[in-house]
Amino acid sequence: MTPAPVRQRSLASRIWSHALDSVFPPHCVSCRAFGRFVCGDCLVRMVRAEHPRCGVCWQPSADSRCQHCRHLQPAFTAVRSVYAFGGPARDLVHALKYSGLSAVAPLMGEEMAGLLLGWKPGVSAIVPVPMAGARRRRRGYNQSELLAREIGRCTGVPVAGRAIVRRVGPSQVEQPDEAARRANAKDAFAAGRGPVGGSFLLVDDTMTTGATLDACARVLKSVGAERVYGLTFARES
Ligand SMILES: [Zn+2]
Ligand SMILES: [Zn+2]
Repeated sequence: MTPAPVRQRSLASRIWSHALDSVFPPHCVSCRAFGRFVCGDCLVRMVRAEHPRCGVCWQPSADSRCQHCRHLQPAFTAVRSVYAFGGPARDLVHALKYSGLSAVAPLMGEEMAGLLLGWKPGVSAIVPVPMAGARRRRRGYNQSELLAREIGRCTGVPVAGRAIVRRVGPSQVEQPDEAARRANAKDAFAAGRGPVGGSFLLVDDTMTTGATLDACARVLKSVGAERVYGLTFARES
C-alpha cells in the first residue's frame, strides 16, 4: 500500500452534508448536545485501544502474542482497533448499526483510515465483513461496507465489496458465548467475487471475540490470499 494523505471529501459531498446539517443539525450520539455527532466533551472520553496489547488479536496483553492466539492460531496475521468499546465509541457504533445514522460513517472511517496509514500492513484491497441479506434490506446498508468505502476514499486502497458473501443463518449477536460464536461463524461465510492472491484488510465496526474476522480470513485464504489483516472501529475488552 502506498501511504497517502487522508483525502478530503468532495466539494459536492461537503455542500450536501452542510445542507443536511442546516435542516437536521447533528447532535452528539452520546450526550445529545447539538452541534456535532460527537461533542468535544465526549470525544475526550473515548478510550483509544493502545498498548500493551497482543500484536495479533489486539486484546490487552503483556505478551506480544497472547495465550488465546497461541492456542487458537487465528487465520489473520494481525488485527487493530481504534477504540476500546464503551462510552461514546459504543454509542457511535450503535448509532450506525441500530439507529440508521449512516452519516456517522465518514467520521468513523476517517479515524480507521488514520490508524491504517500509521500501521501500514501492506494490503492490496479492503474487504468489508458482509451481513445477511435480510438484515441488510431492513437496515438499508451494511455498516462495514460504509466504513470500508470511507477508508478506501481516504487511503486510495480499492474496496473489494463482494469478495466474501454471507450465507443465510443465525446472526453472531444471537450466540451466547465464544464457542457458539466460533461454531456459528465457521459456516457463515463463503468466497464471492473478487481478487485472488495478495494481502487483504477485513473491515468491521467492532471486534468481539475475533471469531467473525477469523472465519472471513479463512475464506480469503482458501481462495489464495497470502495474508489477511483486520481493522475495526472498536474492540470489546
Ligand atoms: Zn457529547
Ligand atoms: Zn492475541
